Amino acid sequence: MKYYSTNKNAPEVDFREASINGLAPDRGLYFPSSIPKVDPYLIENIKSYSNLDLAFNIIKPYVGTAIPDNELLRILAETISFEIPLVTINERISSLELYHGPTFAFKDIGARFMSRCLGYFAEGISTKMTVLVATSGDTGGAVANGFYNVPGVDVVILYPSGRVSDIQEKQLTTLGGNVTALEVLGTFDDCQKMVKEAFADTTLRSKLFLTSANSINVARWIPQQLFYFFAAKQWEDDFAPAVAVPSGNFGNICSGLLAKKSGLPLGKFIAACNANQAVPSYLKTGKYIPQPTISTISNAMDVGDPSNFVRIIELYKSSYQDICNDIVGYSISDSETKSTIEATFKKFGYWLDPHGAVAFAALESYLAEHKDEKGILLETAHPIKFDCETTASGAITDSIAQNVEMLRKKEKKSLLVKSSYNELKDYLLQ
Ligand SMILES: *Cc1c(COP(=O)(O)O)cnc(C)c1O
Repeated sequence: MKYYSTNKNAPEVDFREASINGLAPDRGLYFPSSIPKVDPYLIENIKSYSNLDLAFNIIKPYVGTAIPDNELLRILAETISFEIPLVTINERISSLELYHGPTFAFKDIGARFMSRCLGYFAEGISTKMTVLVATSGDTGGAVANGFYNVPGVDVVILYPSGRVSDIQEKQLTTLGGNVTALEVLGTFDDCQKMVKEAFADTTLRSKLFLTSANSINVARWIPQQLFYFFAAKQWEDDFAPAVAVPSGNFGNICSGLLAKKSGLPLGKFIAACNANQAVPSYLKTGKYIPQPTISTISNAMDVGDPSNFVRIIELYKSSYQDICNDIVGYSISDSETKSTIEATFKKFGYWLDPHGAVAFAALESYLAEHKDEKGILLETAHPIKFDCETTASGAITDSIAQNVEMLRKKEKKSLLVKSSYNELKDYLLQ
């Protein structure tokens, strides 16, 4: 499989080079040169496949010959080694729980797959690889956990001091080993700027083998389509479900659309957004206008100009009509999100996190207009990760709560740095 750049001004590369490069040299996103068709036999008999068999069949064409089959099987087995249950909330809505991984958010799948692929690619290289990543919260934990103890790879995570939740901070700062957390006295944008400067610094890059674990990396994006196959495997109804995806950077929903394009029978995709509604506005008007980021309680979706939107355009060959046939957009306010969390807990005993609640509210609106349909929402994080007032009042008693308690007791280890590129450079070169 070859990958081309969405800016169409860079050489085509294989999966290995696309994963190592992250972004194409012309600043475009890598996109597969053809969309593999899934064997109709697999779709017909999806329930008889194990998750690992499914995963291998789906992912293999995207990896091509970059990783031998036995290695790819091992990588996939490690990536999906936790349950992804489809839980019925009411007679029309089910929730695909993507938060049973080590850091309680769906990003674990992409981060685990990517870390193991890069670990495999690092084996053939004598210099140590340094993975640099800036995080506003969830990405850092998933990446830290994914790369922990991967040989030949060091991880440096930059996070804004005092601006991530307690749990998120503990997930970043308590692993140690090959993972270092730099606690930046600044904002997330400052962290991102420092990382970008490092990638632009040719002297630094001649001394260090730098790579990024940014969410646009194909090795994080491609495996996310597995969610949709796992959902289909557990779906009991004859009619294809509508699928509501809490969306920020639009990587997750775009991977679902990729699954649909390759033959997985799914209904309408519902792009569930908070107040950041560049894409819902586009779906209404046909005009895409990036917007300044608005802070909300579903903070992982606070993106004003989603990077993966270009991949949606690519997937539908710029046809606004085709995009509207497959996707419908909703924007849900913070107050609707809070009342959805409360109402869903009261009515169904099901506890949503703010991101899942945005998707639930959007799906309810959609189903109210489509009386004969049913739907699935992707629950992207465990509610315990977010200290919002409504979730704080609920009682959690499951094993995730015990994990979180253990995490709270661990000692945070971070290096406090000023928000200046020189501080990062000094650290990297020491
Ligand atoms: C990252 C994230 C999202 C948004 O996913 P995208 O792929 O960026 O659209 C939604 N929910 C949670 C909990 C997240 O961490």
